[in-house]
Amino acid sequence: MSERQIRILTIDDEENIRDSFRLYLEDFDYQVIEAKNGREGLELFAREKPDLVLCDLRMPEIDGLEVLSRIREQSPDTPIIVVSGTGVIGDAIEAVRRGAWNYLLKPIQDLSTLQHAIDQALERTRLIRENRAYQEHLEEEVISRTEDLQKAMADLSKTHQQIKLSEARYRSIYENLQDVYFEILPGGEIREVSPSITQISDYHCEDLIGTSIWQFYPRRDDRERLLEELQIHGFVSDYEIHLRDKGGRIVTCSINARLLPAEDGRPTIICGTLRDISERKLAEAHIERLAYYDALTDLPNRRLLIDRLERDLARARRHKHFGAMLFLDLDRFKNINDSLGHQIGDELLKEVARRLTSDLRLEDTVSRLGGDEFIMLLADMGDEPSTAATQTQAKAEQIQTRLSKPYKVLGHDLHITPSIGVAIFPTDDDPNEDSNDILRHADTAMYRAKDDGRDAIRFFLPSMQAAADQRLEIEKDLRFALQRNELKLYFQPQVDQNGRLVGAETLLRWIHPKKGFISPADFIPVAEATGLILPIGLWVLEASCRQIRLWSDQGLSIQHLAVNVSPRQFRQPDFIRQVYHVIERTGVDANQLGLELTEGMVIDNINDTIDKMQALKQLRVELSIDDFGTGYSSLAYLKRLPLDILKIDQSFVRDIETDDGDAAIVETIISMAHHLDLKVIAEGVETIFELDFLNQRGCEIYQGYYFSRPLPEKEFTCLLKSGQQLPLGES
Ligand code: C2E
Ligand code: MG
Ligand code: MG
Repeated sequence: MSERQIRILTIDDEENIRDSFRLYLEDFDYQVIEAKNGREGLELFAREKPDLVLCDLRMPEIDGLEVLSRIREQSPDTPIIVVSGTGVIGDAIEAVRRGAWNYLLKPIQDLSTLQHAIDQALERTRLIRENRAYQEHLEEEVISRTEDLQKAMADLSKTHQQIKLSEARYRSIYENLQDVYFEILPGGEIREVSPSITQISDYHCEDLIGTSIWQFYPRRDDRERLLEELQIHGFVSDYEIHLRDKGGRIVTCSINARLLPAEDGRPTIICGTLRDISERKLAEAHIERLAYYDALTDLPNRRLLIDRLERDLARARRHKHFGAMLFLDLDRFKNINDSLGHQIGDELLKEVARRLTSDLRLEDTVSRLGGDEFIMLLADMGDEPSTAATQTQAKAEQIQTRLSKPYKVLGHDLHITPSIGVAIFPTDDDPNEDSNDILRHADTAMYRAKDDGRDAIRFFLPSMQAAADQRLEIEKDLRFALQRNELKLYFQPQVDQNGRLVGAETLLRWIHPKKGFISPADFIPVAEATGLILPIGLWVLEASCRQIRLWSDQGLSIQHLAVNVSPRQFRQPDFIRQVYHVIERTGVDANQLGLELTEGMVIDNINDTIDKMQALKQLRVELSIDDFGTGYSSLAYLKRLPLDILKIDQSFVRDIETDDGDAAIVETIISMAHHLDLKVIAEGVETIFELDFLNQRGCEIYQGYYFSRPLPEKEFTCLLKSGQQLPLGES
């Protein structure tokens, strides 16, 4: 494509100059248009739009300077070269000031000068145009970019607005959240906690950040379990914990949390939410109370009673012991209610509930079925039905006495008695017996008590009734046995490996005026249950010491006399003082006195036991554990006790010959005792075989029918006098 021809306008009033220019320029392929004066020149310029103008200055009508100015106005980029005959410098300056690009002086001797000026001017224009185009392009670009940028800015600002909005929204949620949001490090340091923590703990979040969460976490095992859960599962949900608030109150909280392992330079954190559920817990507890407790007396209701009864029944079957249910109905309660009104009736029932629950063992339950019917559930009353019956009878009597004491209710003096029905469970020959059966049995027994004239205690099973009746009689008579001098001491000799009499055990005997001889195995439990054991036990202790003194006054010194101590006796806070005073009063050498304790009573409250035993040791009293092997037999506690003697229970000795297991137990007890530096006494030695066996195993002292039965005082004194030797080789 050939370039467009360049058009040059020459404005000059001298024709020959115009011609010479044209001829010369056309040779160089320029198109030349001509104007003979300024006016024509301007017209042509406007119409033809030449690329360059050659203009004279001095012309008629409109002179060159004027033309120059006008063309510049119209097209500032079109180059104008002034070709003038005036050599006046002022003209030249004025022409350039008005926009002339070059100034040539006429006549032009060498036209190549013109040619050169034209080329230069055109090149400059081209550059200016290019520059302008480039400028324009740049400007467009800038505008377009600016528009893009503005749009982007607008978008950004919109997004920013949205982010701000959502941030505000989250912040508002975060700040008004009922739950507490938290972030902690596994070491417990609090990194973040939302303001609602104040409602739960009374602390402000600023005070908490950076401190350790564990200081508000009172239970160590609680927190270890939580961390373990998080480690194993990575999260916990609805996990219950207890926190301590600023005032020290424990707040139950539920947490949902997650363990976020370390990432991108961030450490491992635990984050989650926490909610105070104390109120919910209270509400639940309240609902539970409504569901399981009687609103008037706050005692367990029938539903909870059945639960406990089932638990007790299962336990009794598993451990082969017996429990008891007492069904209590208040005699003539309806009269009080009808004549004095419900308010008084209600108050009376509340007082009855209080009396029933005072002095209750932890494992027992008192329940109100409704109206004036109460149930007392007693766990573990003995290993035999008859023992359970006698024990329960004692307990029922206690309750009967307590409920029969006068009441003062809203200004009224009232008197009321209970009818009590008793069922001992489980019933031996009924494996299918369930809680309803037991309740029915106790109910039946209660009606029997009513039929028998009220204010009575009746057992459901005749056999239990018989045991209870017998016990009642024993109890009645035992109250007077001491005063009536019916109790006597017997002494059973203890001998060493050479058959030498080394001591004796005091055994109590009751010679009843009508029933004759009553075994301590039958009356000691009654004495224990009723508390009569306290005066009786003290009497045995004192009488034994007096006896020791009596013998030594006669020159018949006995090495030691052992006295049985019952649990209730030993548990008295002033037991040590009693022993001390008896020793003082009787003036015996405390060395000669021994006390027999049982495993069960020493294991119970071991620290108190150790204190008491140490005090007894200081008095120089000899201490033994009776019936060893039938209780807990724990070496661990034995080591801690200041003991002198272990007495192997006669049940093991009895079976040495027939039962390899028992023989092994006896062997073990002997070697264990020696290991602990204790002497061993074997009880109930009846045969030469038993004696040989024990002798070979290193047992030092024997007691049993093989040598002698328990003897009354006179006979034992004779034995002491007789040289203190018992037959070793024959029965
Ligand atoms: P315990 O302290 O284990 O007394 C040993 C029992 O075994 C005595 O029965 C004794 O007579 C009996 N016995 C002794 N040698 C033989 C034998 O070779 N064969 C057989 N089968 N039995 C033998 P007892 O006198 O009937 O006393 C029974 C339990 O009554 C005593 O057992 C003791 O726990 C308690 N007891 C006796 N007197 C008292 C006392 O004064 N106070 C207290 N708290 N309990 C006493
Ligand atoms: Mg004993
Ligand atoms: Mg014994």
